[in-house]
Amino acid sequence: MLYKHGYFNQKINGYGQQETEYQSIDLFDMPIIPLKDEKGEDLTIYVKFPKRRLYLKVWQIEVGRVKLYLLDSDIEKNHEEDRDVTLKLYGGDQEMRIRQEIVLGMAGVNLLTNYLHLNPTIYHMNEGHSSFLNLEIIKNIIKEKQVSFEVARDIASSKTVFTTHTPVPAGNDIFPLSLVEKYFKDFWPRLGLSREEFLRLGMKPGIDLDDGFNMGILALKIAGKKNGVSKLHGAVSRELFAEVWPNISANESPIEYVTNGIHTCSWLAPKMKELYNKYLIPYWQDNIHQDYVWEKIKNIPDEKLWEVHTDQKVKLLKLVRESTTERLRRSGYSYEEINEITSKLTSKALTIGFARRFATYKRATLIFKDLERITQILNNADRPVQIIFAGKAHPADKEGQDLIKYIHEISMMPQFKGKIFILENYNIAMSRYLISGVDVWLNNPRRPMEASGTSGQKASVNGVINFSVLDGWWAEGYTQTNGWIIGTNAEYDSYEAQDMADSQSLYRTLEEKIIPTYYDKDKNGLSKKWLQYMKNSIITTGGKYSTARMLVDYTNNLYMPLCNLTKKYYSDIDNAAAFNSWKKDLYMNWKDIKINQVNNLDNITIDAGNNIEVGCEVELPNIDIENISVEVYYGKILENGVVEDVKIIPMKLQDKDEEAKKYYFTAKIELTTGGNYGYTFRIMPKHEMLLEPANLDLVKWITK
Ligand SMILES: *Cc1c(COP(=O)(O)O)cnc(C)c1O
Repeated sequence: MLYKHGYFNQKINGYGQQETEYQSIDLFDMPIIPLKDEKGEDLTIYVKFPKRRLYLKVWQIEVGRVKLYLLDSDIEKNHEEDRDVTLKLYGGDQEMRIRQEIVLGMAGVNLLTNYLHLNPTIYHMNEGHSSFLNLEIIKNIIKEKQVSFEVARDIASSKTVFTTHTPVPAGNDIFPLSLVEKYFKDFWPRLGLSREEFLRLGMKPGIDLDDGFNMGILALKIAGKKNGVSKLHGAVSRELFAEVWPNISANESPIEYVTNGIHTCSWLAPKMKELYNKYLIPYWQDNIHQDYVWEKIKNIPDEKLWEVHTDQKVKLLKLVRESTTERLRRSGYSYEEINEITSKLTSKALTIGFARRFATYKRATLIFKDLERITQILNNADRPVQIIFAGKAHPADKEGQDLIKYIHEISMMPQFKGKIFILENYNIAMSRYLISGVDVWLNNPRRPMEASGTSGQKASVNGVINFSVLDGWWAEGYTQTNGWIIGTNAEYDSYEAQDMADSQSLYRTLEEKIIPTYYDKDKNGLSKKWLQYMKNSIITTGGKYSTARMLVDYTNNLYMPLCNLTKKYYSDIDNAAAFNSWKKDLYMNWKDIKINQVNNLDNITIDAGNNIEVGCEVELPNIDIENISVEVYYGKILENGVVEDVKIIPMKLQDKDEEAKKYYFTAKIELTTGGNYGYTFRIMPKHEMLLEPANLDLVKWITK
């Protein structure tokens, strides 16, 4: 959407209060052009709103080789009250939001297919905001191919990927049913659905109808492939959305993960890039995702790396000085007062950066939990430390804004003056200075709320060392020698207990590890140990946490399987119809499946290195043997009853009695460690068009 007013500009006043300012973007200043129709007039498309149309002008920006299309409702053809639909990000109420999402999802598909004739093979939904696109796709398929909703929905599944980006419930819009009804009551008949059938598309199975229409659930139910944005977030999402597949155990919900990455060359400071050009292999920029590219970082002489880093730091401190001067002057501080504060900034001091949205789960003020202790840390004359904060709070988030106020107040306390800075109007331009100019990048979200986090990746590729909670990407990126961690993997009974434990850990690591390492300087003023951390940081994260690697993963694991499905099967509508009737049969006959035990299922105790053979008998009165897979599910049983190291392996058909429809399956379980093991058997559906067996929410376990 063409957000002409964009996101707000932030000012922080003399009381530490956030003030918001919307500025109109001047389109004449932007590399943007209106698209034209055949008659040479501005291309306008429309979506249906109750009793009227909303017209949208289409704009285009070329981003490198990629064309970006933007929809704009601010045109004369629209009713006055409709013109602001695409004006602001995060402005307005739920009705504004549903209108925006209708524009994004439905007009978006309409533009791509009917006007630009692009006909995408895959649609990728980032978060639930665009998930009405599923409905538009299904509607088009029904119309074009004359198929049922069910068949059209399967085809839509083969064309859609959904990425969930946050475990915070507010990340997904949930619309009141009355609002959905208002905008969609003329639409659901076109899908051949009743009101209730339609509304249930946005709900977990088996709940009351008045629960609200959840855009994330809509996407999860239809998308053929679904993922979270880090390994940990994948696991958290499987639990969070477990109820979408009530029969499948939570940890097997069909949600995988692709860890986020950053566009390396956009975030690498230019001087740093020059250094890499000199020491990495030729054309390294074409092979960013390969780990071997980064090993050569070792060859950069320490003094060169430190020189470039210090250069970045000096640039950042200049920005901090200017920004602080401008902000305090506006609030009526005198020249002397401002100078007293800004003159203390020094590139010699260990500099910590914390910049992110001021959402409460990110705990921006955790480092102030024990004011006495942080006072000591910052004011050690031999080993000084300074901290730079920046970030916007959502305009409706009072608690987030209070954090900004608190940091401002702290920064004005005598013992913290000139040690703690808060910059206003955090944006990408400022971010470039911060992530390359501080020494340590601090991140202390309340685990496991940080889905991935990307600013730490921007920092590490610039040789800025991460100091972070084991959450999001850092839970997999941390290697013990490339940075530091805050807290543990533990789970806590209360926020207070978690904050206490994490803040203690934060202080201890700062005092005992980070500060001593930074100030362990030789006669040339270099800390070899610190530089080793910097290099490890770049080497271990440069490839893995790049968009280059991320796109390879999306392509291999999500896009290509769906493309192949389309190419091999869905291009022929008969296959789609056959698959759908196969599913119907399976749902009907699933209950008749029986698994009988052959030997007893008691736990077994065995020595490491042994293997055992297990077997079961399966009765399939109404289902073809081709349509199921039989699996043995086993794990080590600990003293407290918890099952660990669960493994699921397919079983082999050993014998059959076609007449009685009985089949005998076996498998060999190999155990690498000894101990007490338990195992059981289960059946999952199988079909070559079914990429994710769990999607059908069917599983049959043996009953003892
Ligand atoms: C990278 C970036 C973010 C996201 O950072 P997180 O670590 O995910 O919080 C937010 N805002 C700006 C301006 C950024 O550059």
